[in-house]
Amino acid sequence: MKISVNNLDASIIEEFALQLRGDIVRPSDAGYNETRKVYNGMIDKRPGLFAMCVDVADVMTSVNFGRENNLLIAVRGGGHNGGGLGLCNDGLVIDLSGLKFVRVDTSNNTVRVGGGNLWGEVDHATHPFGLAIPAGIISTTGVGGLTLGGGVGHLSRKYGLTIDNLLEADMVLADGSFVTVNKDQNTDLFWAIRGGGGNFGIVTSFKFQAHKVKNVIGGPTLWPIEQTEKIMAWYHKFINNAPDELNGFIATMIIPGPPFPDFLHGNQYCGIVWCYTGSQEDFNKLIKPAMDLEPVFAHVGEMPYPAIQTLFDGLMPSGLQWYWRADFFKELGPEIRAQHLKFGSKIPTPLSQMHLYPISGAASRVGKEETPWAYRDANYAGVIVGVDPDPKNADKITKWCKDYWEALHPYSAGGAYSNFMMDDEGQDRVKASYKHNYARLAKIKAKYDTNNLFSINQNIKPIK
Ligand SMILES: Cc1cc2nc3c(=O)[nH]c(=O)nc-3n(C[C@H](O)[C@H](O)[C@H](O)COP(=O)(O)OP(=O)(O)OC[C@H]3O[C@@H](n4cnc5c(N)ncnc54)[C@H](O)[C@@H]3O)c2cc1C
Repeated sequence: MKISVNNLDASIIEEFALQLRGDIVRPSDAGYNETRKVYNGMIDKRPGLFAMCVDVADVMTSVNFGRENNLLIAVRGGGHNGGGLGLCNDGLVIDLSGLKFVRVDTSNNTVRVGGGNLWGEVDHATHPFGLAIPAGIISTTGVGGLTLGGGVGHLSRKYGLTIDNLLEADMVLADGSFVTVNKDQNTDLFWAIRGGGGNFGIVTSFKFQAHKVKNVIGGPTLWPIEQTEKIMAWYHKFINNAPDELNGFIATMIIPGPPFPDFLHGNQYCGIVWCYTGSQEDFNKLIKPAMDLEPVFAHVGEMPYPAIQTLFDGLMPSGLQWYWRADFFKELGPEIRAQHLKFGSKIPTPLSQMHLYPISGAASRVGKEETPWAYRDANYAGVIVGVDPDPKNADKITKWCKDYWEALHPYSAGGAYSNFMMDDEGQDRVKASYKHNYARLAKIKAKYDTNNLFSINQNIKPIK
């Protein structure tokens, strides 16, 4: 049974504060309500104490303080998690937003990144060197949570998942010790953090392999929702036979407004968002079959990589209500396509949508046991997201999302990408998502976090 921070003597908290370089934030502080906000406006957790860490020493001190006082501990990186796993009620939040730096090493195109950085900050720092690290599609997402869960995005088919490009991490473990993990040191931990989430400790810095990506050719093509089944059947054959340089995630969506032209606003579409890392000439040839399907809108052109990474940031500001459900898919057979048409035609609010991210190409050439990411043989990481600014619509978007998921789940591969799951899906879903890798993760958890100090995540229970 954990102790509530409220039950701690004030002097204990004051002494803790004196040991930190960063600030603490308590419920009585003026900034508390701002500090407890995360990206998903649906999350309303009330932590007992925030430790706003600015260096590794702060993280070690905070871990020791939380463990010695038997507090529930949450760790916040970018605060983007759908289920609000960067926060907890009554306990201690170890906040990493002060742990930011990006250092590019041009001798080997590697990049060292702080445990609290956001992806937009990383893209900004690497772009002038003509380098990029494969990550997600919204720039305000945290490096910490996205990387530790896997990392799917525009470069997955060419360069693999974010974890496939992770070379090393510095970590603070549950006993407060500091370790470096890589292919030669603490190899069990290095394996576990490449998909196993924040279960094993707090990553204070990541070292990634970057790739030569300066500009890309990208943007959306849209078809009326009535054509969903036809477009999805074509897309499945096309993308799984396309060169790795071509990525394109398929979606059902409503076009909510600008920057899209007026004639699209409020209508439902089946769309593909392309990202190509080759030449314009090659792209034109490659994409011709898509253009032959006569999209009602095509806005695909050359842009700097950070531009495609921020393309949807404006539509998706912090503070909206979000509810997620996800699964991996191997095929897009007729039953699946029929459900996408059905639920894509009744999207409840303008920002709600469904995405299927391709994880073929380089992402599929990593072995199923090489990292905890078990579904290397699936072709898509699918996610359904109900989104709306108005809390009054929370039930409506949640119901649509769950109904859509329940209709599709029987045709799925069985588990989901852990970063696309909510916090209410239960242990069986976590096990299904790590599949054959779960038992190995549970043993590593028992070795490094026997008492499950790091439990606010898609939790892997220690097997002793
Ligand atoms: C709008 C939006 C778009 C997204 N797009 C993509 C996408 O394109 N591709 C993709 O793969 N995912 C995507 N995601 C999902 C995203 O990967 C997860 O939400 C992820 O958990 C966010 O990480 P964070 O650090 O911002 O979150 P947080 O809420 O801060 O943390 C999430 C979890 O990670 C742990 N954690 C975070 N940092 C650390 C650290 N340094 N050390 C140890 N544990 C840590 C936390 O304890 C928590 O359990 C998206 C999410 C949103 C909201």
